[in-house]
Amino acid sequence: MARRFSLPRLVVATHNRGKAGEIRAMLSPFGVDIVSAGELGLPAPEETGTTFEENATLKALAATRASGLPALADDSGLSVRALDGRPGLHTADWEGPTRDAMVGMRRIQDELARRGVPNDDAARAATFHCVLALAWPDEHVELVHGTLEGCIVWPPRGSGGHGYDPCFLPAGETRTTAEMSDAEKNAISHRGRAFRLLVEACFT
Ligand code: IMP
Repeated sequence: MARRFSLPRLVVATHNRGKAGEIRAMLSPFGVDIVSAGELGLPAPEETGTTFEENATLKALAATRASGLPALADDSGLSVRALDGRPGLHTADWEGPTRDAMVGMRRIQDELARRGVPNDDAARAATFHCVLALAWPDEHVELVHGTLEGCIVWPPRGSGGHGYDPCFLPAGETRTTAEMSDAEKNAISHRGRAFRLLVEACFT
């Protein structure tokens, strides 16, 4: 049985204003005052975990230890089956030092081509992952994991979403996640699913 969250204030363990805003909007119905690690000037810990769960947990615990407040962290990425699950935990690194998503998408396409992976959906199967970790000041942690199954398409399509969305076609869809509205993507996405699981487990 998950622990219920009943504290008035929560740190979102991110320095990304977009992410903090999304989380603030999602938790606003529950009367939680949200502050971000960036706003508090907390340092970002090194992501040394070997799973999405470990990285989300270490980010949440670092923020709760530094602030004395409960903290929510996420860790996400894209795993491509024909690349043995890569880029996985290193999805952001594949975007290069300038964090250019086009660089990451092209690297995936180049690696698939190099391995001679045929241009069909089953051969190019991929999964988006999002793990959320909610840590209390006594270091109790609740974890949820949302996924979105699909495949890598080339060339990239669409200008919505962010990151690798233009090259990701969800299973059963005709549009990439970059060709969907934010609401449409959120209804099926790994992050939307993880948030709904967290709200169900700890906030309702
Ligand atoms: P993190 O923010 O350090 O967890 O890195 C996540 C990586 O996965 C970044 O490279 C993002 O661009 C990518 N990513 C995560 N979620 C999505 C998504 O919903 N669409 C596209 N790319 C995503």
